[in-house]
Amino acid sequence: MDRNATQYLIVGGSAAGMAAAHTIRSHDPMAPVTVLTDETDKPYFRPMIPFVVSGKKKSQDMAMEGCGPYVGKDIFVKTDSRVVSVDTDSHRVFLENNQVFNYGKILFATGSRPFIPPDIKGTESNGVFALRTLAHARKMNARAAQTQHAVLLGGGLLNLKAAFALLERGIKVTLVVYSPQVLSQLMDAEDAVLIRNALDDAGLEIRTGTAAVEIESDNSGVRGIVLDDHTKISCQMVCIGKGVRPNVEFLENSKIKLEKGIVADIHTACSQSDTFAAGDVAVTHDPVSGKPVMTALWTNAVEMGRCAGLNMAGLPTAYAGTFGILNATQIANMPFVSMGLVHTKDLDCEIFRSGGQGSFRKMVFSSDGRHLIGMVLIGDISNAGLYRHVIQGKKLVEKFKHHIIGHNLHWGHFIK
Ligand SMILES: Cc1cc2nc3c(=O)[nH]c(=O)nc-3n(C[C@H](O)[C@H](O)[C@H](O)COP(=O)(O)OP(=O)(O)OC[C@H]3O[C@@H](n4cnc5c(N)ncnc54)[C@H](O)[C@@H]3O)c2cc1C
Repeated sequence: MDRNATQYLIVGGSAAGMAAAHTIRSHDPMAPVTVLTDETDKPYFRPMIPFVVSGKKKSQDMAMEGCGPYVGKDIFVKTDSRVVSVDTDSHRVFLENNQVFNYGKILFATGSRPFIPPDIKGTESNGVFALRTLAHARKMNARAAQTQHAVLLGGGLLNLKAAFALLERGIKVTLVVYSPQVLSQLMDAEDAVLIRNALDDAGLEIRTGTAAVEIESDNSGVRGIVLDDHTKISCQMVCIGKGVRPNVEFLENSKIKLEKGIVADIHTACSQSDTFAAGDVAVTHDPVSGKPVMTALWTNAVEMGRCAGLNMAGLPTAYAGTFGILNATQIANMPFVSMGLVHTKDLDCEIFRSGGQGSFRKMVFSSDGRHLIGMVLIGDISNAGLYRHVIQGKKLVEKFKHHIIGHNLHWGHFIK
């Protein structure tokens, strides 16, 4: 078989790409499915890589192969294969190593990469990281062995995960956050109190309202960082978590429509025939606002990848879209969910906050009170799936609103 001619070609072998590959395989058992990834590692569970930094898990524990739906089913995964351009007229892709692949249908699932602020000097120094890949995690793990103090720039989820991995190794960690709070993209400051307390209790030092201007280094790598208020912090490691940028450069000279990411229609198709996009790299729609949106979430990437797989296999399937803000995870043993409209300062909407020891809930309703449009749950995240159903389905809530506010809604309320 000519491995370079494939019915289904998937660029990017992670959440979206592998979900698509396995969905295609389930519906088209015989056709060749090829996945190209520029990484040296075979597909793995990216959200787990902080465990490699902490030393709790090994690289091989991250592998997708053999896990649940990701059991190998004759899907050809080619590592070290970076796509540099695509010709959608001739259905060909060109690799950095000069190989050429022909495809019948192609999925772009190239995800995103960390943004490195160009105004910080010294980011190329040994000991500076931006945790994205398993290879990065291994390098951070090795550097951690000679690190007493790590400074992490940015207060988003990925840096908090990295911070906890380092704290678990007994390393002192300082988080430098320009905004006045951590997780500012996921919740308002007044709603983040429980998380902030949990971070303090875990021993994380947080400096808000300041930014790094320079990373200092010598022959052994990083030795300190200079902040914009001229403070110097001595450290042996810096990790940058300042957001991500979609990996679209390989399409810049193609006919594929780009608007920051790759524009995908409701059936995950791109602007040229036989082309599809899914995951972090795709621009899709927010089901509540209807606006274009890009997210950076494993579960979304898997859902959209599955949907793309169905469409590629000839089963037209509409993608339900995804919230601009949606996250469900755990930080400092504190689970939380943030979904839909959560930043409510000066907005015309109904807000109900409640909670108790170790838990917090914020429910956001539309200004006429008839729809649930956002929520933040911290500590007790039960019913999150149910509330997502209400928000995403734009359900009229009048009959069960008091149950949402009282946090005792159940699926029975939807049985007609
Ligand atoms: C440390 C960390 C922790 C996270 N924790 C969570 C969490 O708790 N919950 C959650 O929901 N999400 C989490 N995420 C985010 C989640 O991992 C991403 O949203 C998800 O991986 C996106 O999947 P994807 O398939 O769209 O893209 P990616 O996972 O980014 O994969 C894209 C792949 O394509 C490859 N690629 C890019 N360009 C090319 C090219 N030109 N040619 C060939 N290959 C290419 C990339 O190298 C990569 O392997 C975390 C991410 C990180 C880094």
